[in-house]
Amino acid sequence: GEREGAVVGAVPKGLFIGGEWRDAEGGRELKVEDPATGEVLCAVADASPKDGQLALDAAAGRQAEWGQTPPRARSEILYNAFELLKQRQEDLALLMTLEMGKPLAEARGEILYAAEFLRWFAEEAVRIQGSYLPSPDGKSRFLVMKQPVGTTLLITPWNFPMAMGTRKIGPAIAAGCTMVAKPAPQTPLSMLALAAILDEAGLPKGVLNVIPTSDAGPVMEPLIKDRRTRKLSFTGSTAVGKILLTQSSEQVLKVSLELGGNAPFIVFDDADLDRAVEGAMLAKMRNVGEACTAANRFFVHADVADAFATRLAERMGALKIGRGTEDGVEIGPLVDAAAVAKVSTLVDDARQRGARTVLDGGPIDGKGHFYQPTVLADVPPDARMGTEEIFGPVAPITTFTDEDDVVARANSTDFGLISYVFSQDIDRALRVAERMESGLVGLNSGLISNPAAPFGGVKQSGLGREGGLIGIDEFVETKYVGIPVR
Ligand code: ADP
Repeated sequence: GEREGAVVGAVPKGLFIGGEWRDAEGGRELKVEDPATGEVLCAVADASPKDGQLALDAAAGRQAEWGQTPPRARSEILYNAFELLKQRQEDLALLMTLEMGKPLAEARGEILYAAEFLRWFAEEAVRIQGSYLPSPDGKSRFLVMKQPVGTTLLITPWNFPMAMGTRKIGPAIAAGCTMVAKPAPQTPLSMLALAAILDEAGLPKGVLNVIPTSDAGPVMEPLIKDRRTRKLSFTGSTAVGKILLTQSSEQVLKVSLELGGNAPFIVFDDADLDRAVEGAMLAKMRNVGEACTAANRFFVHADVADAFATRLAERMGALKIGRGTEDGVEIGPLVDAAAVAKVSTLVDDARQRGARTVLDGGPIDGKGHFYQPTVLADVPPDARMGTEEIFGPVAPITTFTDEDDVVARANSTDFGLISYVFSQDIDRALRVAERMESGLVGLNSGLISNPAAPFGGVKQSGLGREGGLIGIDEFVETKYVGIPVR
């Protein structure tokens, strides 16, 4: 409608370099689609490798000065941006729904979640602390200080287009790093809108540079290998994360990686089944399952498995599916046609190997990239969805009877982002939480992400943590000054 056009129209469509909005080299453009209709919303500038260089020139040129700004000044910019995001929540949510597909209610939630990273790091900017200590033998003093790591590259995914931006940009600003940010090609508009807001909030020119591109590899690789770059922070697939980690080895960059997951969701026979179903709905259906935290493998005790599967299928089957802008819609489309094809392939594979259908969903013909929720039971261990991220509204259920056995099965994956554990027995709940090989555990909860808590994975789910008191550490270096006493 008219409001949609106005909201899309208000976003600057250029590359944001050195505080100016510019066309890409040769006027190259990247088309942005509405995944609910397949129609083109608008085009934005599509950065070339040369544009990438200009962005790094701007960021690196500003580093020395920006690293010296008073922490309070950096804090206030973040706080101003936090306020602006909240004030413009409605428009920013609509923009996100249009480019990414998630229902408006979820997009509104993400804008607030994204804003909270700015507030959290506004608070942290003035609390980056060092220490001054006597050596154990008393003969010298240790002065330990924290300094900005330096110019940073940020690469973000399409599934949380605003929150993944603020989660990286927030601590980078707080710590005093300058940046080149590259959003996913499917969802550049949220990041461009964020850049405009940070500009309005008082961020000096050149501190943040934004370069959407359809050519990520050729644009980013030279920047990763450029001597002026000191850090890379990436959220996306494990496959791309590994490529970037290899490229980062050239300069031994400081690296933060938030990669894929394969979350187990364990329901013991002593669980509160209402809470388990509620938790499963959040862990599986938030963002239509397009989240690295999405429950990927359900392990349910044999005594409660049928009841759990029936109730989950009822709830998932009752969700209203449609374009995210429509009233009452609870699940939107998947991000693109490739996503629908991948989910379909994994479901077909599981069925061919003997999985039983509890809720029969599947792709919806016609406009947009819709996939109806699906619940499978008795999913055999060799099904591909046991090892691959589904990234869609499909819940595969298997049963267990023994605690040691389910812990071993839950941990038998190369990934380790999050595990969900449902039990009312406090001893068991804590015991199993400790044994989970994952950076995060949802205990009787299907959603635990919070800007004030440390988020990140073990094994091939990543390196480093975002948010929490530790989040700023990714953007500072520690310097030790040794001082003999005279
Ligand atoms: P997904 O499969 O969910 O799109 P990706 O890991 O492919 O996840 O994408 C996450 C981000 O990484 C996006 O911004 C994408 O453009 C970027 N990306 C993909 N390939 C490369 C690459 N070779 N170098 C740098 N960035 C990349």
